[in-house]
Amino acid sequence: MADARKGLLLINTGPGKGKTTAALGTALRAVGNGMKVLVLQFLKGSWHYGELDAVEAFGPNFVLKQMGRGFVKVGGAETDPEDTRLVEAAWAEAREAIYSGEWDMVVLDEINYAISYKMLDPVVVAEALRNRPEMVHVILTGRNAHPLLVEMADTVTEMREVKHAYQKGVLAQRGIEY
Ligand code: ATP
Ligand code: MG
Repeated sequence: MADARKGLLLINTGPGKGKTTAALGTALRAVGNGMKVLVLQFLKGSWHYGELDAVEAFGPNFVLKQMGRGFVKVGGAETDPEDTRLVEAAWAEAREAIYSGEWDMVVLDEINYAISYKMLDPVVVAEALRNRPEMVHVILTGRNAHPLLVEMADTVTEMREVKHAYQKGVLAQRGIEY
């Protein structure tokens, strides 16, 4: 029989809303179980999300860091080298955190976008995740999850958009979108 305790790889992907917030919900659940959780947000940086302040209240067992600067220009030659540099730095910190033994769960928010924008090599990420310390849970979020990562993940959820307020012209709402 399989071991009862095992570090899992989860992916929240798909076009519907809820990928990041579901990961934060799982993080909250883990913190409540006495686990230490690190959330690294790839690409994000320009918006001030409510979760930044909410997580701060938990102290050192629940840490969230924005590793980007927002508003990433995408598509081959147009990608700003500065954004690529920030993604590389975020990945270096993510890898270090996963291997450090310091965290029970590491959430790599929006990493799927960084990979689909070709700012990060999926083979390198897959290799690091495959060889990670056994008990570390990792959650990857963002649309267009790479097939290689989907294949190796334990739990993959695809958010399906049924409708979104944005479609009838409602702008991003405090507490819902940020
Ligand atoms: P959330 O952070 O709310 O869980 P998400 O992580 O699933 O959303 P992202 O692709 O990271 O979604 O997009 C982030 C922002 O875009 C959020 O403000 C979110 O509300 C908004 N958003 C998500 N899905 C849609 C959609 N289908 N149409 C319009 N806006 C969306
Ligand atoms: Mg998100």
